[in-house]
Amino acid sequence: MNNISPNPAAAVITAARALLGDRLTTNDAIRQQHSRGEDTTTPTMPDAVAFVETTAEVSELLKLCNQHGVAVTPFGAGTSLEGHVNPVRAGISLDLSRMTAILEVNSEDMDGLIEPGVTRQQLNEYLRDQGLFFPVDPGSVCTIGGMCATRASGTAAVRYGTIRENVLGLEVVLADGRVINTGGRTRKAANGYDLTRLFIGSEGTLGVITKIRLRLHGIPEAVSAAVCQFPSLEAAVNSVITTMQLGIPVARIELLDEVQMAACIAYSKLEGYEPVPTLFLEFHGTDAGVAEQAESVQAITAEHGGSGFAWARDAETRNKLWKARHDAYWACLAAQPGSRGIATDVRSRGWRKRCSARSRTSRNPG
Ligand SMILES: Cc1cc2nc3c(=O)[nH]c(=O)nc-3n(C[C@H](O)[C@H](O)[C@H](O)COP(=O)(O)OP(=O)(O)OC[C@H]3O[C@@H](n4cnc5c(N)ncnc54)[C@H](O)[C@@H]3O)c2cc1C
Repeated sequence: MNNISPNPAAAVITAARALLGDRLTTNDAIRQQHSRGEDTTTPTMPDAVAFVETTAEVSELLKLCNQHGVAVTPFGAGTSLEGHVNPVRAGISLDLSRMTAILEVNSEDMDGLIEPGVTRQQLNEYLRDQGLFFPVDPGSVCTIGGMCATRASGTAAVRYGTIRENVLGLEVVLADGRVINTGGRTRKAANGYDLTRLFIGSEGTLGVITKIRLRLHGIPEAVSAAVCQFPSLEAAVNSVITTMQLGIPVARIELLDEVQMAACIAYSKLEGYEPVPTLFLEFHGTDAGVAEQAESVQAITAEHGGSGFAWARDAETRNKLWKARHDAYWACLAAQPGSRGIATDVRSRGWRKRCSARSRTSRNPG
């Protein structure tokens, strides 16, 4: 940090206008849109919003902000739920949603190179004709840059992993404007620090991701979705445990408790289901493989008291089911009109026990 001017933000805005023209804006409505994400934090207005289109622009802008000591908050689609995009120190909200080029798809090696503003929906639309897909599917329409920065997961994580397992490398612009490349296409490369994983989940604090090398997957020959309802949460959870212990390669497995299921039935007009603990499942493989997986899971769920195990291969039924799951957040909001959501990750019982042990220890240090 050097060259601090009496009004650093104004100095950056003037210089950035020369770089970006009207893609650097101080418009109130746009600053408002960038003052928080899909969360409950108190909004903070950035001084300006910059809509960047190239790595060179990101680099120049970060150099400028670094020289003047002005904060920069990267912004993808603003769907994060825990205050990530709130520019608490004002400065520049760096909007990457216009960097939407799909630069390479290598279908034989099953990898691709994209810019950070591409959404998973756009990518999958583009890949479909090539028999490939990208499996990480948070329930929002968000950017893949934002997914990298939040270490996003989705319904298919049980089989394909989260974004962490599906990124091979990154181009990142550091705070002083330097551009670095991490990782690469070689799957077995084991040399050097694993810098890619350092940036995954760094929430925009270590650098701005400007290109992403992704691992892609072949669209399976057969796909089938299933739903099973349970008398208790415990019965549903035990079915999942047995399924995982037996190594059945389910592609998706999601648990909705009775409250969530009631909200989804009402919001997504799901017919024929009860508001009880429910598992949504999906199987991928060959025709025979999918049938075998579904039959094995059906037997397991029956042992645990599950009922109404219904599986469907047609895309319409599957899409309706997973759309209902992806809309679960909006279903909760609709169940309590006028509310905002407070979403966060669930901690395990072990974690809670460890925490309460720690707090007991700190209360009774002797
Ligand atoms: C209905 C709903 C369902 C959701 N379901 C899921 C889910 O199933 N799984 C899940 O993991 N999340 C889920 N989310 C949360 C959210 O969608 C994800 O965290 C998503 O990855 C955020 O992407 P985004 O483009 O909106 O990023 P933003 O919200 O714009 O940004 C998120 C963070 O990433 C940083 N950032 C953004 N782009 C870059 C970049 N190019 N370089 C560096 N830093 C950057 C920002 O500074 C910020 O810290 C859900 C949200 C909603 C509203």
